[in-house]
Amino acid sequence: MPASKPIPKPIRYTIVPVHPEAHLFEVTCTVDQPDVAGQSFALPAWIPGSYMIREFAKNIVEIRAESKGKDVKLTKLNKDTWQAALCKQPLTLIWRVYAWDLSVRCAHLDTTHGFFNGTAVFLRVLGQEEAPHEVEIHKPQGSAYKTWRVATALPELKAKRHGFGTYRAANYDELVDHPVEMGNFEMGHFSACGTRHEVVITGQVPRLDMERLCRDMKTICEAQIRFFEPKSERAPFPRYVFLTMVVGDGYGGLEHRASTALICSRNDLPIFGKAETTDGYSTFLGLVSHEYFHSWNVKRIKPAAFAPYDFQRENHTSLLWIFEGFTSYYDDLFLLRTGLITSEQYLKLLSKTISSVLRGSGRLKQSVAESSFDAWTKYYRQDENSPNAIVSYYQKGSLVALALDLHIRHTSQNKKSLDNVMRALWQQYGRDFYPANTQGLSESGFAEIVKTSTGIDVSQKIGEWAHGTKDLPLKTLLEFFGINLNLKREHDRPSLGIKTSSNNGDCRISNVHDNSAAQAAGLSAGDVLIAINTLRVTATNLDGLLSRFAIGDRVQVYAFRRDELMHFEVVLGAEPPVQCTLSMDLSSDRIKTRMQKRWINT
Ligand code: ZN
Repeated sequence: MPASKPIPKPIRYTIVPVHPEAHLFEVTCTVDQPDVAGQSFALPAWIPGSYMIREFAKNIVEIRAESKGKDVKLTKLNKDTWQAALCKQPLTLIWRVYAWDLSVRCAHLDTTHGFFNGTAVFLRVLGQEEAPHEVEIHKPQGSAYKTWRVATALPELKAKRHGFGTYRAANYDELVDHPVEMGNFEMGHFSACGTRHEVVITGQVPRLDMERLCRDMKTICEAQIRFFEPKSERAPFPRYVFLTMVVGDGYGGLEHRASTALICSRNDLPIFGKAETTDGYSTFLGLVSHEYFHSWNVKRIKPAAFAPYDFQRENHTSLLWIFEGFTSYYDDLFLLRTGLITSEQYLKLLSKTISSVLRGSGRLKQSVAESSFDAWTKYYRQDENSPNAIVSYYQKGSLVALALDLHIRHTSQNKKSLDNVMRALWQQYGRDFYPANTQGLSESGFAEIVKTSTGIDVSQKIGEWAHGTKDLPLKTLLEFFGINLNLKREHDRPSLGIKTSSNNGDCRISNVHDNSAAQAAGLSAGDVLIAINTLRVTATNLDGLLSRFAIGDRVQVYAFRRDELMHFEVVLGAEPPVQCTLSMDLSSDRIKTRMQKRWINT
């Protein structure tokens, strides 16, 4: 018999909200069998799902090592890596993390609650990432915290459900893919296809209609589970947790394998006794739908570049238009399919996305594949020139998904759709390979899977739509489904071709669009507009003022640049016709109507 492999000893962490007033977590990590050459530890430089180097190690304010009560020398090797001196005994690293980032990406701690992503707080034990990992989560000291509870999808080892105590993970990757919330949160729950789902709400929400929230979220979750697993109706996790931070004004989400961290505006959540579906509530449900869809599309079906993640540097892939774009296509589509929005509302949302993509001339310079690859330095690091230089792999990616879906439906006479492709991706790259984490979609593998799952060769379309920069043929494709796409100018008034923002009531140019009147005259981002001809410009009157003129008029524009008064002669232009409206063509023939019904009237 072959000798059995020794089971590696678990890596043991503790995390203590040691000083909530100062926003400090104290974290320890004990390694029973440290590297004999000197154990190294590193904190991730980014968090999967948010493709930007964030240097979380900048928040480590103190760090030291000890073994059996004696200090061990610790050397910093680079921005996020430390090495302990040679040590044969169990080695403990102790550090403090400043946690004051109220986003879904990092960590936050005060006297009202604590939240952390493992990537922001747990240093990785290099070479022992595959060992089992345990974490003992402590309650802050003091009677004020007596009623605090814990919410996470991490399985308990020595803790009651929602209690402080020890939780476990199979490896480092799993440990840091489970965000943790602690505090006096409100909680609802529901079962979707037999799997428990928890809705955790942090922040005050007077008269929150939790019952409705759970009911609507259950509808979305069940539809998605059945979408990917129509036969077994099995969710890919034993339990799922929605960690929701409610603020006055905010929006965001980050996907994880069995949970998601959300941030939303208080007014977006439903009020008890009021049955209407506000735009804000639709937006929130769209976010829920988006992050939940990621449980399959990116957390389990992933690009080869993410299998496994490299936590210390950029993980380049040209496929985010599939993983984010397709997810953005399906998020609202699921609201429609489940009846949470009407087809009219759906077409309105779609037309907004089309307008938004057409508004930026960056779409004519960067493909969604390039946008994906450069997410780290371009999409996530936008500046005043971004509208002229880049395209969103979320928004245009969702339109590529739409174009592919319509193309497949039309070519196959509605026998196949993008749904078949998603299920094939799930079967080939997700269901059977997770959590082994070694299989991923290759950079050029997508067209092949479309071919095998639908019989349609889309390689040329992918070349044009995902790797090219021409506008998508949405008008033609939508016509097959009895939907008219019309473009017009948003306003008839003349335009400078700028976007402005206001600081203390002034009117500051934030973006100058390529080929605009403002650009031709030499106006730049950062310029503070003072007057047009002899009339003062303020933050609120620019549009009204421009309405007094006609397209082609020559006007004198005065602005401050670096506090110096400058003068520009501007020939006012027309807005480009990028305002999209989608409408159902009531004169459509039976075939088109049937196609439309299968697509959006389900
Ligand atoms: Zn996403």
